[in-house]
Amino acid sequence: MRIARFSIDGNVAFGAIEGDKQDELVLDIIKGIPFADFELSGTKVPVGKVRLLPPVLPNKVVAFGRNYAEHARELGNEVPDAPFAFFKPSTSVIGPGDEIQYPSFSAEVHHEAELAVVIGRMCREVPRERVKDVIFGYTCANDITARDVQKREKQWARAKGFDTSCPLGPWVETDLDPGDLTIQLTVNGQQRQLGRTSEMIHSIEDLIVNISEAMTLLPGDVILTGTPAGVGPLTVGDEVAVTIEGIGTLTNKVVKRG
Ligand code: MG
Repeated sequence: MRIARFSIDGNVAFGAIEGDKQDELVLDIIKGIPFADFELSGTKVPVGKVRLLPPVLPNKVVAFGRNYAEHARELGNEVPDAPFAFFKPSTSVIGPGDEIQYPSFSAEVHHEAELAVVIGRMCREVPRERVKDVIFGYTCANDITARDVQKREKQWARAKGFDTSCPLGPWVETDLDPGDLTIQLTVNGQQRQLGRTSEMIHSIEDLIVNISEAMTLLPGDVILTGTPAGVGPLTVGDEVAVTIEGIGTLTNKVVKRG
């Protein structure tokens, strides 16, 4: 099931997406929230009539770095033995179609297409064999990074945590085997990144075992699983699109921060 969060006439709700053609998609409005048992209301609205929002409002976004060998090498980094994580704050999250605001303190902002895992239930110290039980679904993410700031500051809070640096969407796909999906990114229609999720060094199970060892994960929390090779700069006016097989396309435009 594809579950979107949207607003219409000032109201915010979740809905299940029906249909296959992009311009004929319809939302069946969900009663309640999708992390518990929920029912579809049967009340349907065309996707074209609503504004899609970030599909979840995470308490935290935990992002893993250097999880594709070719990407680690392209930036001159070693491939790490163990997964390593950093945070992107809830205030960095934006939705499909929202604007990425180019920060004033950077001159080198990069795109990073990533598969995002959405957590479905509160959990801690998740054993490997239970990981699938805590996953709600998957969506597309763009781990927008001020590369110059990342290089000169030891902690990445500013480089990776600035407002609008975490586009998520367009919806959460709940029925998906994430093991070997095409992940690609275009800028103004030109392909920049192309990889497969099977190229991850540490699997989704590894990542969730690793982070849940340290902290409680909450429903709606998001885990970013790393980016394949091909990262590169964005400039004001660019349209950047992340497409993941079986999920959909997340598109955002880059603007100057007003
Ligand atoms: Mg990343």
